[in-house]
Amino acid sequence: METGAFAGAAALAERFGDGTLRLTPWRSLMIVNVTLQEMAELARLGQELGFITDASDRRLAITTCPGSPACTSAAAATRTDAAFLAASDLPLPALLHIAGCAKGCAHPRAAPVTFVGQPDGYDIVLDGRADATPRLRGLTIREASQFLASPTMQKKR
Ligand code: SF4
Repeated sequence: METGAFAGAAALAERFGDGTLRLTPWRSLMIVNVTLQEMAELARLGQELGFITDASDRRLAITTCPGSPACTSAAAATRTDAAFLAASDLPLPALLHIAGCAKGCAHPRAAPVTFVGQPDGYDIVLDGRADATPRLRGLTIREASQFLASPTMQKKR
């Protein structure tokens, strides 16, 4: 979340709720005391700010760290690549972890599919942590994303 979006959320809390904005342990925001009649409009405006307001949003299937340029260890622009994949019509696994490097901060556990940023491109790890031995190495984000539609992935689904 960028500061502009956060300021926008605060403004929505004042307009639709009682001005309270709560942070939850699940990385979400709560605006409280909103009337049922105004929820749809609040969700629409929240979406315009870039927030996820719909449980079917494809971004919920992707977890990622800040990546580059925010993290000095990162070898990939993870958030940009996550946004590209979420906006595509490629099939997504139950969870896709996009890591800027093998430390895998955003999901330090096994994931069905993990893209791991490396100096020569993305490595792909299946059913493992970001530091596990990859199945494929050195792919561009487009090559890595095409893997999601590959027969290997179809078998996994
Ligand atoms: S996984 Fe690597 S690139 Fe991402 S935040 Fe952690 S150290 Fe930085």
